[in-house]
Amino acid sequence: MIIDTHCHIYYNECKNAEQILQKCKENNIIVILNGIDKESNKQVIELSKKYDNVYAAIGYDHSVVDKIGKEELLLLENQIKENNVVAIGEIGLDYHWIKNNKEKQKELFIAQLNLAEKYNLPVIVHSRDAVQDVYDILKKKKLKGSIHCYSGSKEMAKEFVKLGFYIGIDGPITFKNNKNQREIVKEINKDYLLVETDSPYLSPEPFRGEENTSLNLKYIIEQIAKELNLSYEETRKFTTNNALRLFDLNI
Ligand SMILES: [Zn+2]
Repeated sequence: MIIDTHCHIYYNECKNAEQILQKCKENNIIVILNGIDKESNKQVIELSKKYDNVYAAIGYDHSVVDKIGKEELLLLENQIKENNVVAIGEIGLDYHWIKNNKEKQKELFIAQLNLAEKYNLPVIVHSRDAVQDVYDILKKKKLKGSIHCYSGSKEMAKEFVKLGFYIGIDGPITFKNNKNQREIVKEINKDYLLVETDSPYLSPEPFRGEENTSLNLKYIIEQIAKELNLSYEETRKFTTNNALRLFDLNI
């Protein structure tokens, strides 16, 4: 068994979502689907009910910040109460493209962290060009979760681990020019490493640029094994156990 702790294999992002999820099931791959908006959250919940290898994380990401008000947050809370949701995500801050709505992004992020505290759920956090703000906000909370597709410094990765956060590693670790992620896996406590694909995006080598699926998770595990001088099997085991622990999965 391997666990893809962050992906978007649902209809909004992926036309053949159900075929892929079925294939994952046949290959003993557990996936945690991450919604980002109203429509995808609904799809994530539906798919988690239909497939026993699929778990639901729901939330509103930075891209929909202008569409989310009290009503939508109430909907999210009701979905958390009424369904078996394992995490709140994908949520977070992204200052890469849009920089003029930082305060609004923070507000939405904090509102969802408050929900995570209330319902004792882990969070799956997106952080792009916003690592300091994400850190400052999480530091004030008593939460656990993952920093997905981590792209910050090694030093900062260690600080997140100190807060009880896990570091999500994806396809870019296999890219020749991405020394940063490869160094991070060597530097941080391996009990805090998670593997994820962010599929259908971020395909690892040798499929870079193509549509990604959770079936490619093995290439990420292979690369981590290489960096740590461990076997594939050892790496598969400890990353799987980390995911089981963080998301409290009984599989
Ligand atoms: Zn994502």
